[in-house]
Amino acid sequence: MTVTDPRQIVAAKRDGHALAAEEVEMFVDGYTRGEIGDGPAAAFLMACLLRGMDGAETLALTKALVASGDTVRLEGLDRPTVDKHSTGGVADGVTLVFAPLAASLGMAVAKLSGRGLGHTGGTLDKLESIPGLRTDLSPDEMQRQVRSIGCAVAAQSSRLVPADGKLYALRDATATVPSIPLIAASVMSKKLAVETDLILLDVKAGAGAFMKTVGDAEALAEACLELARGWGRQARVAVSDMGQPLGDAVGNALDVAEAIDVLGGSHRGRLRDLAVAFAARGLSVTSGRDVEPALAEAERALDDGSALDRFRAMIEAQGGDPHVVDDPRGVLPSAPVVLPIESDRTGTIQGMATHEIGLASGALGAGRMRKGDPVDPAVGIVVRCKIGDVLERGRSVGEVHARDNDAARVAARAVLDALVIGDDPVTPPPLVHAWLE
Ligand code: URA
Repeated sequence: MTVTDPRQIVAAKRDGHALAAEEVEMFVDGYTRGEIGDGPAAAFLMACLLRGMDGAETLALTKALVASGDTVRLEGLDRPTVDKHSTGGVADGVTLVFAPLAASLGMAVAKLSGRGLGHTGGTLDKLESIPGLRTDLSPDEMQRQVRSIGCAVAAQSSRLVPADGKLYALRDATATVPSIPLIAASVMSKKLAVETDLILLDVKAGAGAFMKTVGDAEALAEACLELARGWGRQARVAVSDMGQPLGDAVGNALDVAEAIDVLGGSHRGRLRDLAVAFAARGLSVTSGRDVEPALAEAERALDDGSALDRFRAMIEAQGGDPHVVDDPRGVLPSAPVVLPIESDRTGTIQGMATHEIGLASGALGAGRMRKGDPVDPAVGIVVRCKIGDVLERGRSVGEVHARDNDAARVAARAVLDALVIGDDPVTPPPLVHAWLE
């Protein structure tokens, strides 16, 4: 398909017209092949963000993204295949726990994950903090590993949905990420390019998410479900709370250490509960069991060590040091400065500027502001308090892991400033606002 004048497509969207499917496909195809430059593509994205896209345009965009690369089919597996994706959050280590947990429950998880961007963390960056671990698995390696162990977490190859990789980077650079149709098409193109029996989506809502309100998150969830239906694929979506960091650790090695504690059954809290909720939902949908017994089974797999065994096998299969499971803090890289964060006020935590906590960890080196930047695996922040907790002045709320004292002090200040403290008692937000299907 040759693009004659992309400006006409941009102008039509700018003026609020719905685009024909061929126009959307032509634009995406032209941009992916380099016939359309970043300038018109950025204008196109901004017009889509400001004017919105209807269901037919969003479907056309998703199809064009999927068509830009290969599709993956998991073959020869004797168990149901499940994929899971989060729209991005802070201290969101669910995939690290979910993948081995689901595998230990008899599901097969072939997960293509992303890297952290902006204030959000990325599963690949976290996993790569384990010495030796590779995430650049070929499709064959991935299939073999899923067949033998039940789970693999790898990087998206340049042959899979390349148009999304290119457009996502441009969206990040042009403030055009937070658009419901653009996010739905981006997320779902990656899920639809890998054929699995079930897609589980975690659409985050709140201060640390792209969608700040539950209403917007539900609209995004509905847009994703509509795409799954249009494709004939089974999906379940949790709209979950991101009004505070999900787990305690906001970093890379720190998240892995926390995930290992959860997998070993010794660490309880919202991260464990959400990973269990996803694994149980997957088990229930793929096996026809009720959710309640599936929840009990998932809890058991964490408490009896079977999920942790799967994690060890996955790390070993991907070239990582399996001893990380026995001694995470001894094996993982650690930062030279660990600064305790002590509350400077007394009162109840009413809310958390979660986005700012994510940015503070990024500024220590745990995240990247631009695609391709390196990350420091050792640094980050641990926040050991949640909304509704009562703090006393001087009480520890966590610690900063940093390369130097100055950086540590700046991050500790940012965490304290992010805590909204008041006198009134507060009911903590629910972990999951709604499950949609
Ligand atoms: N995650 C994605 O994969 N794409 C988006 O647009 C936002 C979050």
